[in-house]
Amino acid sequence: MSKIMAEYIWVDGQKPSAKLRSKTKIVDGPVRSLADLPDWGFDGSSTYQAEGHFSDCQLKPATYIPDPIRGGENILVLCEVLNADGSVHVSNTRAHLRGVAEEFKSHDSWFGIEQEYTFFEGVKPLGWPSNGFPAPQGGYYCGVGADEVFGRPIVEKHMELCLKAGITLSGINSEVMPGQWEFQVGPLGPLAAADQLWLCRWLLYRVAEDFKVSATLDPKPVKGDWNGAGAHTNFSTNAMRAPGGIEVVKAACEKLKLKHSEHIAVYGAHNEERLTGKHETSSMTDFRYGVSDRGASIRIPMATANSGMGYLEDRRPAANMDPYQVCAKLIETICG
Ligand code: ADP
Ligand code: MN
Ligand code: MN
Ligand code: MN
Repeated sequence: MSKIMAEYIWVDGQKPSAKLRSKTKIVDGPVRSLADLPDWGFDGSSTYQAEGHFSDCQLKPATYIPDPIRGGENILVLCEVLNADGSVHVSNTRAHLRGVAEEFKSHDSWFGIEQEYTFFEGVKPLGWPSNGFPAPQGGYYCGVGADEVFGRPIVEKHMELCLKAGITLSGINSEVMPGQWEFQVGPLGPLAAADQLWLCRWLLYRVAEDFKVSATLDPKPVKGDWNGAGAHTNFSTNAMRAPGGIEVVKAACEKLKLKHSEHIAVYGAHNEERLTGKHETSSMTDFRYGVSDRGASIRIPMATANSGMGYLEDRRPAANMDPYQVCAKLIETICG
C-alpha cells in the first residue's frame, strides 16, 4: 500500500452560478472502488454553503477518475455535499438527478452536451488586441492559423487530459468569437454525462491555469455583436432511437413547449443576454422547434429527420448551466 493524492472536487454554493472547488487528500492507494474513499469535510462558510457558526459540510465521494495531470495512481474525486448530519445540502443538485435518473431509467436517456467557453487573459478575451477589437466575426469558427485561432495549445492539452482520464469526449472546435471554444461530452446516461461535464470543466480551469489563462462560462462574455456561449444539450430516449422515433421526438418538443419558462429558469443565469434571437440563438420569450433550424429553441438534426429516428438538440441552455438541473428537467418533462 502506498499513499496517493486524491483531489476532492465539489460544486459550491455561489449564486447565481455555482463554481467548482477542490482540495487534496492523501489517502491509502491504490483506490479500487468508491468504498476505499473516506468522506471528508470542508468549511462551508468560505464556499457560500454555510453561515459563520456550524460551518462544517461533508464531502461524499460520488465518482472518481484517474488524475491525468498528476498521473500514477492519483485520482480526481467528484463529491456530493452533505450537511453535518448527513442530509443532502441545499446546493447539492446531483442528489435530485440521482432520484430522477433512477425513476425513469427504463427510458435509457442519453445526453450529449456541447460546452462552449471563452478564454480570458486578464480582462480581455485571449488573442484580443490591447486596444479595441479584433476583426469582426466570420473567419474564426473552426478556423486555422494564428490570425484566426487563439489558445489551441490549451485546448489540445485539455483534450489529451480528458481522454487520458477516460472521459467520453466526442470532439472539440473553435467557435465564432475569437478566443471562444467548445468541447462535447457524451452521449452518456444522465449522471455520467453531468458528472463528466463538471470534471471536464475542472480540468479546463486547471490546465488553463498553467498557461496563466482563465476560462469563463459567462453566456455573453463580450457585449454587442459577438456570439454568446451556450451548452446545447442533445437528448434521446430508447423510443427516440428506435424506428419511428421521430414521432417521439416531435411529441417531446410539444411537451417542452408547455414547460418553456420552467426550463429557462434552470438553464443558466444571464441567459437573456444570450438568447436574443440573433447569433444562432432563439429568443428567450418564444418557443419554436424545427428540423435543422439553428434559430429554434429545439433543433431536430437533419440526420434524425432523414432516418426517422435519433435525438433532439435543446439549444437554450447557457454555458454556465448546471447539468444536474438541466438533465433532471429534460427527463422530468419528456419522460414524465
Ligand atoms: P452541433 O452540430 O450542434 O455543433 P456537435 O457535434 O457539437 O453538434 O454535438 C452533438 C452532440 O450530440 C455530441 O455530444 C454527441 O455525442 C451527441 N449525440 C449524438 N447522438 C446522440 C443521441 N442519440 N442522444 C443524445 N446525444 C447524442
Ligand atoms: Mn457543436
Ligand atoms: Mn457551438
Ligand atoms: Mn449544437
